[in-house]
This record gives sequence, structure tokens and C-alpha cells, in this order.
Amino acid sequence: MLTIRAGRLFDGHDFLEDQVVTVVDGRVTEVARGGSARVDLGGATLLPGLVDCHVHLAFDAGPDPIARLTAAGDEELLELMRESAARHLAAGVTTVRDLGDRGFLALRLTGGPEVLAAGPPITTVRGHCWWLGGEVSGEAEIREAVRERARRGTHVVKMMLTGGEMTEGTHSHLAQFTLAEARAAAEEAHALGLPIAGHAHGRPGVAIALEAGFDTVEHCSFLTADSVETDFDLLGKLAGAGTVVSVTAGVVPVGGPPPPRIVALLPKLIANMQALYSCGVPFVIGTDAGVGPPKPHGVLPHAVEQLAGIGYAPLDLLRAVTSVAARVCRVGDRKGRIRPGYDADLVAVDGDPLTDPSALLRPVAVYRAGRAT
Ligand SMILES: [Zn+2]
Repeated sequence: MLTIRAGRLFDGHDFLEDQVVTVVDGRVTEVARGGSARVDLGGATLLPGLVDCHVHLAFDAGPDPIARLTAAGDEELLELMRESAARHLAAGVTTVRDLGDRGFLALRLTGGPEVLAAGPPITTVRGHCWWLGGEVSGEAEIREAVRERARRGTHVVKMMLTGGEMTEGTHSHLAQFTLAEARAAAEEAHALGLPIAGHAHGRPGVAIALEAGFDTVEHCSFLTADSVETDFDLLGKLAGAGTVVSVTAGVVPVGGPPPPRIVALLPKLIANMQALYSCGVPFVIGTDAGVGPPKPHGVLPHAVEQLAGIGYAPLDLLRAVTSVAARVCRVGDRKGRIRPGYDADLVAVDGDPLTDPSALLRPVAVYRAGRAT
């Protein structure tokens, strides 16, 4: 048995003062006010371990993750993924949703954060991230690809509804699949009890995700061929349908600037992120960790701080990276809260993240299933 006392505790929804958390066999059994404990965190704030809804453990966050991945054999890649996962855990991110690996390797990871994996994203022939091995052509192959993922035990299905910045020859603003194809995938996933996440930058992809009943829209950046054009009407529809947007955020400063296209678009991308929030679209945060040097694994706390800096309320952000994220990832019955029956995945941070979101950048203790890491 382990008891932890914190001067301040965020239970995934609300803040409480002077709490003692009791942990038995990796689970929280009691949360009560006052009393002594074996571990006293003093003035630190205790939170549920954070949940990053969009990472790529197989990308090394170096200058050319694709080359690194392509050159690596499975065992080497698995080792790289273990290191990526460990970085998340060290930052207090106890659950990650891997939205694109190669060869379903993410399903083989143990001992780090909880990994919820999609396997290779379903994409068109030579479509976005085709080199991860998820190419399909036509409805029958799409349905079979979804069934294969369910058979292998993935936790989510990922479909590339538009092209992406990382893949030459694809276009972020254009749809890769038809509405009928996306519907077939969503139907099949839902019949098998799996959520489906749609990578969608441009408006056509976002509209298809909504119409096809996808559970999350990843990015939702409304990129056009050369700009960003937020569709407020479509955002209203997403909010109405309760479709969750996974806001792509979180960067660390690195030597060089981001790609020129992104630098030029940055003010518009930020305005778009503000629009997602002001339109009341339910949201979680996905960092896309691994895709390049500004996005190392474990970058999620930076995303919280940066979104707070552009107008997102800290309490909404803290819920988004704990209880809301857990629910969206379908682990809301055991993750994202500090309450009896829940996994003792916990992070203590130096300071009060409600008044100072940068406190999340200062973890002082991380527990995974009740064990200090
Ligand atoms: Zn991604």
C-alpha cells in the first residue's frame, strides 16, 4: 500500500485541497482530505497522468524521421519506440495514443506509458504516410484493413482523409478518400467496437470526417493550397454533432525555424486554433510528437502552456489532457481521473497549473500503475 499527500490535487475535473491518495496494487482505493501519508508532496499539485491523443513513437523527432524509420529493422525500430515512450512517461504523460506505426510494433510495447495504438494508418496508394504500410484501394480493401486492425488488437483505427505535410506528392488541403469510403471504414470500425480517428487538414477532409461519423478529427487546420480558411459553419456542425477535434499543439524551441510554409501560415493557424475553441467544439490535444525536432516525445505539457497563451482556459486544458482525453480514447473508466478504482497513473508538478500552466513543465514525481518511475 502507498499513501501520497498533496497540498493540492486536480482529480481530472476539479481542484481539491490537502488530499491523501491511497494506492493498492496499482489502483487508487481512496481519496480523502487531510491526514498523514508515506509520501508527502508538500506544496506540489497532484494530477492524473496526462494523456497525449496523437503521437508517433516510431518517429524519432530528428530532422528526417522517415529516413530513420525506413532504414531501421523491426527490432531497432522497437528500441527507438521504447525510448520515445519513456520520454513521454518522464514528462508525466502516462498514456499515449499512437496514431501511426509500422508493422503494428506499438502493440508490443510494455513497461512504459500505456500505449493505445492504431497500427499503420489506412491510406491511399502512395497517399499520406504510405511508407508505414497501410495502403488500400477501394471499399473492400478498406473494410478488410479495419478488420485486420481489430483482429490484431488495435485500440483505434486511423485513416488519412487528406494528404499531409510529411509526404511528398500528397496535398494537405485535398481529400484522399471519398465520403463513401470513409463511411465504410467508420461503419466497420464501429461494428467492431473501435473508435476511428481521421487525419484531416483541408476542409474537404474535415467535412468527410463529420459526415462519416468519425470519432475524432486530427488537426482540423483548414489548410488550403496556400493559406488557412477556417470554416465556422463546419465548426458549428462539429460542435453540434459532438465530434471531437484533436488540436495539434506543442512545440519546443529548436535551432532552426519550422518549414517556411508553416512559418508564413503560423498567425492563421493560431487564429484557427482559437476558432476551434471559441466555437465550442469538444477538444483533446494531440502533439504529433516525433514528426520533427520541435516536437520531441513528451512535449504535451508545452502544448498546454501554449494553448493557454492563446486564450484556452487552463481548467479546460487540464480536463482535455486528463479526463476528456481518457474518455475519447475509450479508457475513461480507468484513466484520466484520480478516484477509487482508477489506475494510479499520477503526476505531481511544482506549482499550481491552474494559475500557472507552465507548472506542468516541472514534474517532481510520476507514478505509473502505482509505481514511482
Ligand atoms: Zn500524426
